[in-house]
Amino acid sequence: MTVPPCRFSIAASDAPIELLPRDLSGWRQGNCGVDYVHRFDSGREGPELVIQALTHGNEICGANALLWLLENNIRPMCGAMTLIFANVDAYQTFDLQRPFASRCLDEDMNRIWLPDRLSCPDSHETRRAVELLPYIENADSVLDLHSTTFAVAPMLIYPQTSGNTAFADRLQFPFPHLLYDPGSYHQGILISEHQRHADKGVSLVAECGQHFAASTSQQALAVTLRFIAQHGMLDSCVEIPAWGYAADDTAGHYRIDRVLNAQTEQFRFAIPVKGFEQYCKGELIATDDQELIAAPFDNCALIMPARVPVAGEEVVTLAERLESTQV
Ligand SMILES: [Zn+2]
Repeated sequence: MTVPPCRFSIAASDAPIELLPRDLSGWRQGNCGVDYVHRFDSGREGPELVIQALTHGNEICGANALLWLLENNIRPMCGAMTLIFANVDAYQTFDLQRPFASRCLDEDMNRIWLPDRLSCPDSHETRRAVELLPYIENADSVLDLHSTTFAVAPMLIYPQTSGNTAFADRLQFPFPHLLYDPGSYHQGILISEHQRHADKGVSLVAECGQHFAASTSQQALAVTLRFIAQHGMLDSCVEIPAWGYAADDTAGHYRIDRVLNAQTEQFRFAIPVKGFEQYCKGELIATDDQELIAAPFDNCALIMPARVPVAGEEVVTLAERLESTQV
């Protein structure tokens, strides 16, 4: 198939850029035959963890968290831990004038984890995913580190399974939790593919804050170390840093309902949005050329709206904010 060019996008960042990519070349040669993959086996029985950074090349925080683990020689106390810098080639194209453009080279690397795409890889991202897939398939638990376009609260996103919800609760993550059923969310997400192979395992995305904010790096390290610790694999000598952000009134649980695509270039939100705006059923969210788009249910929250709507592409996720009694 022909892969559309990566569409993220021309404009400069409207947020200050406090994080810049670092030179990863010293970590290119991994220890298991795949570039930028490092696996540490404690030699003791225990879980097989994968922590992945740079699924999106401009999401710098995850690379910083993995660098911290590598530079501080953090090793699992039991089981094995694999650290993956996924799309380093995209990361290396970072341009201060177009900081969103290094998200990918050919296509979004978090929409391609599908058997029919990976059985005939035809893009930079699918070819890299084929190299990484054995580690994902072999993992009991996967943490995929991301960041967001807009400065909104950090969040955890995960398939709604009893294993994931119990683990996420044990993490005591004081920010939004977004639960999804694989049928109602983006297709081809890494953690959905992992969950298919490890239905008793833990599969989490951590969104750690705005892409280029220094606090986002601290948030990524804080969630990574808690993830390792919660599996009983972190040396108790390692000090776990505070969260990078303070919790705000968006904290709580949300059920992802659907992803909206823009039908035309005329898609416009009714008001400027950055995420977590909440609507009652019937309230106007956006217009798309002549079409009015109203909230389809009460307590309808907007999740990760696009900066620049593109016809035919995803523009926002709708999620129902749950009462504590619904969780
Ligand atoms: Zn991302």
